[in-house]
Amino acid sequence: MTSESATVAEEEYLQILFWLQEAGLGMTGANVARAMQLSAPTVHEMIGRLERDGYVTRGEDKAIAFTAQGAEQAEGIVRRHRLIERFLTDVLGIPWDEVHEEAERLEHAMSPVLEQRMLAAVGDAKTCPHGHPIVAGARLAGVPLADVQVGARVRVLRFENEAEDLLHYLKGSGLEPGLEGTLERHDDEEVVLRSADGRRCAVTPSVAETVSVMADPSPPPRTALPEQLVLGRRYGR
Ligand SMILES: [Zn+2]
Repeated sequence: MTSESATVAEEEYLQILFWLQEAGLGMTGANVARAMQLSAPTVHEMIGRLERDGYVTRGEDKAIAFTAQGAEQAEGIVRRHRLIERFLTDVLGIPWDEVHEEAERLEHAMSPVLEQRMLAAVGDAKTCPHGHPIVAGARLAGVPLADVQVGARVRVLRFENEAEDLLHYLKGSGLEPGLEGTLERHDDEEVVLRSADGRRCAVTPSVAETVSVMADPSPPPRTALPEQLVLGRRYGR
């Protein structure tokens, strides 16, 4: 096992910290608490444990940083999560809105040998089915669908929040990573993307905040909102 000492709980925290960093959000206890919907004292205690075990350091300004060991652990758990998701959709044929929770369970119990076999089985796939790069650092810059103006050409990059109920909603809307189309409507009620093959894909403006796209013309880059872009167990609270 690669994770000879990290516990399942530690791996969950390392994964969340990695997601924050990847999305350009501050690695702070407050953001972790918001993302995991846990109390500040609970998070504080666990960050302290990660620090004692040598995975993170904490600066005077409370900013959390990975140690080399912590970065390696975090990248490993995130890579396995995304690889398992891709394996479940592409090899086992499970719908992409049903694989996140399964991957959460399997990612902690995976040997390097099994990881290599799975990697071979998914062929040249480079992302999880929600658009996140399997190998750290390969993330394309995107803008929130919520910022795109009517008439713009759009390509869906990824879903930033993998809460399963949100994925069910997105699946029902017809949106998926790789989909191309034109922004047709954008108001307080809904954001509508007309796909290149004529389908009408509508989501609420708050869900459109969690969908990263490339657009032409493109709105200016914007940092994500912590409560909308990270792995909440339940979306919309
Ligand atoms: Zn995913």
